[in-house]
Amino acid sequence: MEIQYLGTAAAEGLPALFCSCDTCKRARELGGKELRSRTQSIVDGKLLIDFPPDTYIHAQRESLQLGKIQHLLVTHSHMDHFFPVELIHRHEHFGHNAKGMLHVYGNEAVEKSFYEAVLIDRFKVHPLDEAVKFVRLEPFRDFWAEGYHIIPIPADHDKRETCFIYIIEKDGKCLLYGHDTGMNLSDEAWECIFSHKFDLVSLDATMGMKQIDGYHMGLLDDIAFVQLLEERQCVTSSTVKVVNHFSHNGKMTHGQLEEFAERHGMRAAYDGMKVLF
Ligand SMILES: [Zn+2]
Ligand SMILES: [Zn+2]
Ligand SMILES: [Zn+2]
Repeated sequence: MEIQYLGTAAAEGLPALFCSCDTCKRARELGGKELRSRTQSIVDGKLLIDFPPDTYIHAQRESLQLGKIQHLLVTHSHMDHFFPVELIHRHEHFGHNAKGMLHVYGNEAVEKSFYEAVLIDRFKVHPLDEAVKFVRLEPFRDFWAEGYHIIPIPADHDKRETCFIYIIEKDGKCLLYGHDTGMNLSDEAWECIFSHKFDLVSLDATMGMKQIDGYHMGLLDDIAFVQLLEERQCVTSSTVKVVNHFSHNGKMTHGQLEEFAERHGMRAAYDGMKVLF
């Protein structure tokens, strides 16, 4: 399996759109890996995870043929993970030769914002029935897409909706995609996670060295999360542990994140990073 991190920032981006804090100023000066667009990933170039407003720039930057993608897994409805109005461009009028149907998988809030965005009056002349189809997910109800076995697990995030993190398996490889979430998962969620052996775990590191009680994680939570997985033999020394989804409020440069991650057997994601596992 291969995962590519197309964007690695939290909601406001890094540098943040309207911000002139020291972290954002430094990111603008240094450029390169300090610049982060909103979090989105792609597995094996086939399975897209999340659809932020930066999807357009990701496709351009990485020469992605998004018209070939037929499966989009959405973690939750927050704008940095789902910007549905852009999906209208998969209609033949805007996206010629897009292949088959794009299946968009998500919770009830994602479904609501999907229909609110694409069913507006102005788009009635471009119905998406032949181009995009929404598939509603339920917690722990596993399904198959493009040969991937996928389990949606309720996250510890916005309580107004059932945010999901995902277990994704194919050809004996297993990935835990943990964005966005804190560590206060339900017993049922932990039980499901603990019943798997992972080749790669991708963990929320929004807070940097800070810690809050749930909703997001910081680097110290990531260490604790990995430790729980180690105790249950869900990960080994060969499991790739990635920290991702960084906020300027975490106040860390990529170099600092990388140094910390390496010291703890993890990798700090940056925009465009590919990991084969
Ligand atoms: Zn987010
Ligand atoms: Zn800032
Ligand atoms: Zn979120």
